Amino acid sequence: MSKSFSYIDIHGHLNFAAYDSDREEVIERAREAGVIMITVGTQIDTSRKAVELARTHENMYAAIGLHPVHTTSSHHDMQELGEGGKDFTSRGEAVDSQAYVDLARDPKVVAIGECGLDYYRLDDESIKKQRSTFEAMIDVANEVGKPLMLHIRNPNEGVNSAYRDAYEILKDRAKVKGDLHFFAGSTEEARPFLDLGYSFSFTGVITFTHDYDEVIRFIPLDRLMTETDCPYVAPKSHRGKRNEPAYVIETVKALAAIKSIPEDAVAKQVMDNAERLFRV
Ligand SMILES: [Zn+2]
Repeated sequence: MSKSFSYIDIHGHLNFAAYDSDREEVIERAREAGVIMITVGTQIDTSRKAVELARTHENMYAAIGLHPVHTTSSHHDMQELGEGGKDFTSRGEAVDSQAYVDLARDPKVVAIGECGLDYYRLDDESIKKQRSTFEAMIDVANEVGKPLMLHIRNPNEGVNSAYRDAYEILKDRAKVKGDLHFFAGSTEEARPFLDLGYSFSFTGVITFTHDYDEVIRFIPLDRLMTETDCPYVAPKSHRGKRNEPAYVIETVKALAAIKSIPEDAVAKQVMDNAERLFRV
């Protein structure tokens, strides 16, 4: 990786429709700010788009995978798919492992995901599909020897832990390590993943809420990563507006404040962490 980059956004969606009108400008603003990024697919189309974009931009890598909410037909997000996206999101993608393996072999693909379990929007039909899709994605990662970009989300209420269930699947099946994107679990939910050697990434949400401070203090600095999850969850200065990779610097500042560690030391360690896991 070029030394001119000081920050990394390990999880964003420049491949989404939200950037159709000004994608190149957004990528250029990140480059000028010294930000390198991983663009993350959520189904086969957005995964292909992530790889295409990464091939043509020095400061971009790709992750490819099938997101748990795209295993059934209930979900449609305008920022992701735009006005015309409804038809292809409604199909409820059945995973074609070979297509993902083929895509995963591209040298610019650095992770498999996002994949995992989402109990936030859950029905009985979807849990089985989520599990089998997650297992298929883990097998893809094992086959190509690249780490997992995990999307794990707990239910709004109740005692079910998507983290606990994901851990049970990963501990026996995964031969690679991974990152828990947008980690929102407790210290108790983090602990087994720390023992497995996984890392945890946080978004701009930590710039306007203290809900994550305790778990961030608990996780060692050498297991922390920064992300935007753009176009979603913009940091404080742009709250409620479209997010973009250049804003990841605000998350670095917030991490530094929460950990009481100088900002440049946090930035450097996060880059080292990303190099170690994703080989960017
Ligand atoms: Zn995402």
